Amino acid sequence: MEELNIESLSPKVHEKYSENLYKFLKRRGLKSPQKVFIDENSDFWIGYFYDNDFIGSRLMNVLTNDQTSTWCFSSKNTPKLNLSEFFWRDYEKIGRCAIDRNHQIHFLKSDSRYKEEGDTRVCQWCGHKQKLRKWTETIERSEWINA
Ligand SMILES: [Zn+2]
Repeated sequence: MEELNIESLSPKVHEKYSENLYKFLKRRGLKSPQKVFIDENSDFWIGYFYDNDFIGSRLMNVLTNDQTSTWCFSSKNTPKLNLSEFFWRDYEKIGRCAIDRNHQIHFLKSDSRYKEEGDTRVCQWCGHKQKLRKWTETIERSEWINA
């Protein structure tokens, strides 16, 4: 992997980039190259391996909790992680959509993300299209009353 250009992933460059991830990379990425891994549940992890120990964090924690600290997972506590080879390339292109491909997460500072038209919205970061589903639910209720 070529070296990550952290400054090009700043939220000042584009809103699609996470401010918290940028802070994390500024704090951690200069000392040790940060790689992104996927576990068996398709969750992303960020960090690196030192011998067999993993030093890092869940990517979602970094994004949502403004957390720049990392943990060391000894080899027997490390979940099975597979390197996500193209993560940084994808992140550079589509920003936070690389983490939320199904577009189910509401990110902070994401006003520029969707353009709505009627019952359709298109993601301006990656081009993903969604339709608004509407439905009516009938609720059956019951209670005991005095006879
Ligand atoms: Zn998107």
